[in-house]
Amino acid sequence: MDVSEIIIAGDTPGVVWRLPVFRFEGASAEAPRIYIQAALHANELPGTALLHFLLDRLRQADRDGAILGGITIVPQANPIGSAQAHFGELQGRFDLGSRTNFNRDFPLISLEDRDCLLEQPDLYSAADRLKRHLLHMALGADLVLDLHCDDEGLQYAYIDEAFWPDAADLAAALDMKAVLLSDGESSAFEEAVAHAWKHGREGERRTTLPGRLSVTVELRGTRDVYPELARKDAEGVFRFLVGRGIVAAPKAGLQAFAGKAVPLDNIEMIRAPEAGAILFHRDIGDNVKAGDLLATILARPGAPEGTIEIRAPQDGLVVTRVSTRFARRRSDLMKIACAEPSRTARKPGTLEA
Ligand SMILES: [Zn+2]
Repeated sequence: MDVSEIIIAGDTPGVVWRLPVFRFEGASAEAPRIYIQAALHANELPGTALLHFLLDRLRQADRDGAILGGITIVPQANPIGSAQAHFGELQGRFDLGSRTNFNRDFPLISLEDRDCLLEQPDLYSAADRLKRHLLHMALGADLVLDLHCDDEGLQYAYIDEAFWPDAADLAAALDMKAVLLSDGESSAFEEAVAHAWKHGREGERRTTLPGRLSVTVELRGTRDVYPELARKDAEGVFRFLVGRGIVAAPKAGLQAFAGKAVPLDNIEMIRAPEAGAILFHRDIGDNVKAGDLLATILARPGAPEGTIEIRAPQDGLVVTRVSTRFARRRSDLMKIACAEPSRTARKPGTLEA
């Protein structure tokens, strides 16, 4: 195993960001190469914990000579976000300097332009340099896992339709409850990787990418950072690596993926019609029926007619829920995975800003 650091100059004097990268060289040129990162949204730590335990497992495999495919791991991908303590709270999702989501605005390039990502760094801010380094590493691999988490959430993933159902082995290995099939229409990290593969050369547009995989894994919620869960998930990723021939080990019998796989159009984003305290009646993991009471908003607390009931628009599985108990008007409350498309219009791309 090799450990190196990517060094990125800060945007102000005296600041330098250091990004540790762990690499295992694979013994077989035929085996797929994988890139895994966590905490691109710096406040989402379940993946960092997972990779801590996975690295331990991989060091043992390395000592046993069992690493076949190249493995690159960045356990904490966003030192800039990690440093953004804002009035006592970590702001890990948006770069405070540019107000940009750390997981948006990745360059949409052709694979053949990969090396351009690291050219002329002086043209880019520290956050953009970081994004370009991360994308550059990912494009050196065949399989890419970007480990995130939701606010309160089940284990699920965003997977471009181009990789489904090939990615069902990952969904099974991580015991996912749902897979949200995305349309590849955003500038999120995972979709920038897939974009480069689809446009291997200028003008090329591939719709299937055999042998490739780029996914955003949502490892439950932000508070679900525990040694048992992280070890279990690390075991899951390890089984996936064995299944894909990246690590040589006896293949454990994998259960088939038993969760739901639904297109993003079938996600009901439940929003608050008015501001107020949120009383949730249903939790993540609940299967709800159309018309079920999901939440009550105390829009005018104390007033006899001061509450608003929010009901399920159709049957579905509650995949996520916000952890705050105060809603602003139109703020998100839940994501529900349903069998039918939502009647609420959705712009192409990601569900959230
Ligand atoms: Zn995230």
